[in-house]
Amino acid sequence: MTRRFLIIGGGPAGNTAATVAATLGAEVTLIERDLIGGAAHLLDCVPSKAMIATGAELANLRRAHTMGLRAEGQLDATAVRERVAGIEERLHASVQNLLESQGVRLLAGTATFVDPHSVRVVGPGVDEVVDADVILVATGSRPRIPEWAPLDGDRVLTTRESYPPPQIPEHLCVIGSGVTGVEFTHMFSALGSEVSLVVSRQQVLPLKDPEVAAVLEDEFLNRGVHLLKGARATNIGREGDTVRVECNDGRRVDASHVILAIGSIPNTDGLGLEAAGLVCTDGGYIPINHNCLTDVPHIYAAGDVSGKLPLSSVASMQGRKIAEHLMGEHSRQHRHLDYEKAASAIFTEPEVADVGLAEADAFASGRKIRVTKVPFATNAQALIKGDPRGFVKVISDPATGEVLGGSIVGRGAAELISVIAVAVTNNLKVADIADSLLVHPAMAESLAEAAS
Ligand SMILES: Cc1cc2nc3c(=O)[nH]c(=O)nc-3n(C[C@H](O)[C@H](O)[C@H](O)COP(=O)(O)OP(=O)(O)OC[C@H]3O[C@@H](n4cnc5c(N)ncnc54)[C@H](O)[C@@H]3O)c2cc1C
Repeated sequence: MTRRFLIIGGGPAGNTAATVAATLGAEVTLIERDLIGGAAHLLDCVPSKAMIATGAELANLRRAHTMGLRAEGQLDATAVRERVAGIEERLHASVQNLLESQGVRLLAGTATFVDPHSVRVVGPGVDEVVDADVILVATGSRPRIPEWAPLDGDRVLTTRESYPPPQIPEHLCVIGSGVTGVEFTHMFSALGSEVSLVVSRQQVLPLKDPEVAAVLEDEFLNRGVHLLKGARATNIGREGDTVRVECNDGRRVDASHVILAIGSIPNTDGLGLEAAGLVCTDGGYIPINHNCLTDVPHIYAAGDVSGKLPLSSVASMQGRKIAEHLMGEHSRQHRHLDYEKAASAIFTEPEVADVGLAEADAFASGRKIRVTKVPFATNAQALIKGDPRGFVKVISDPATGEVLGGSIVGRGAAELISVIAVAVTNNLKVADIADSLLVHPAMAESLAEAAS
């Protein structure tokens, strides 16, 4: 019998689950209140990376003289805006076309549970109750806004309102030095803004390897970014075109713009989850098991609402696993998602990426590890590209040689980490990497060296 599968949310979790389930024979309806592609494609991941790519090209032009070239970098904010919008539109259209070609029924509107098996959808020209055998909640998250931050859509902004920018801020204060905060610091300093970064701890990226964070901090300081370490923003006031950020230790920043990057909250309010019998955690997330099933046996949750890793890549993988589980295709080996083995990257310059066991966590738990670190300073490709910053670090089991994790900071780290990610996921040994015949010249040669 065909299974009627209803999905709420068209981001990476929802649209991947829809495509895979439809391919496997489910009758799929997907409800999206905004645009298919989700916040990932339209508000967060893709536009931020598109802006960062523009900043990187600008930086390349400005240092072209180091390559023996004469070139001038000048920013055209309108063209940048059009480029970012064009990328979003292409991605939205390609996901929508794929879903339609797979026979997924797309309903534009906001969904609310009526009971555990049905959802009401209200949107332009739509007011309908849809019944289903199985439901997936994949409604994503939104930026956290503290009560002391008077957002105005003009100078006091969340990350979602800050691109494409109507103008490049003269002096930007970024509040929050996690992944999003450092990416926005990098993005706007590369585009020419003076940037102050409010760092609540003593290290940017407090959850990352301190050696990795140190490389990034040095880079920020070299670029003239003001780091306010150990400061918590407590108030934002505006006087004319100046925005004043006050911190708990008495320090303050007078900036032209402020961007809040202090985390996100799940979109679980207003969904009528109680009608479905679902109970959220204190933080508003929907608890799930290893198959992404909630406490209600026919309801799954995935992506940012599930409170696992808030990454687009993880959301898509959860969506795929759910579709396979739902259609009885999950019995092969390695079917369960292991969040500890998810690779992640930070698109600063230099890039930062890591996967698997972190050195600090191994020490904290008393686990014996072997750590090998190779700087890019002697890598031929790094020198050819004129960017020898950073290093690659491989963490392995000293007894078996199994690759347990790794961190990379340097040019192309986001791509390079894939090699370590494949090794970690498939329990490969350092010798498997070291014995591979790699390209020369390539940044990956340092990776092989760290694995030898
Ligand atoms: C600035 C920034 C940069 C990021 N960069 C990266 C990156 O480089 N790499 C990475 O892997 N991750 C990145 N992320 C994280 C990534 O964007 C999220 O993890 C991802 O979007 C989660 O996907 P999702 O499917 O859970 O939700 P979303 O992409 O948020 O999609 C959820 C969808 O559900 C819809 N919806 C919500 N409620 C309802 C309702 N009641 N009815 C109908 N529809 C509804 C929403 O409109 C939305 O379209 C970034 C996040 C931020 C904030």
